[in-house]
Amino acid sequence: MGMKHGRAGYSVYRSQQWQALRLAAKRRDGFKCTSCGGRGRLEVHHETPVRQAPELAFDLGNLKCLCPPCHSKQTNAERGIQPNPARDAWKSLLRQGTFLTC
Ligand SMILES: [Zn+2]
Repeated sequence: MGMKHGRAGYSVYRSQQWQALRLAAKRRDGFKCTSCGGRGRLEVHHETPVRQAPELAFDLGNLKCLCPPCHSKQTNAERGIQPNPARDAWKSLLRQGTFLTC
């Protein structure tokens, strides 16, 4: 039964609670990107990253919907990362339907 903690983000994104909350966030935001208003594919972003505030992982107020380009811009800005080939490879992985969020 030994559930390990310390990798909060890992289990958060696999829980049913997260799946439900993701949908709730999309509904609230009208299934649009909150940054550019784009419709289509959306990712749900934690305004305060889960690793900084695990207690806000399931707080709807900490979530917002972003399209993939806006999401990566935001994530890069938060992490202070400039676009680079490794990052692009990661993004194409994400596009293939792997789990999306940060
Ligand atoms: Zn957008």
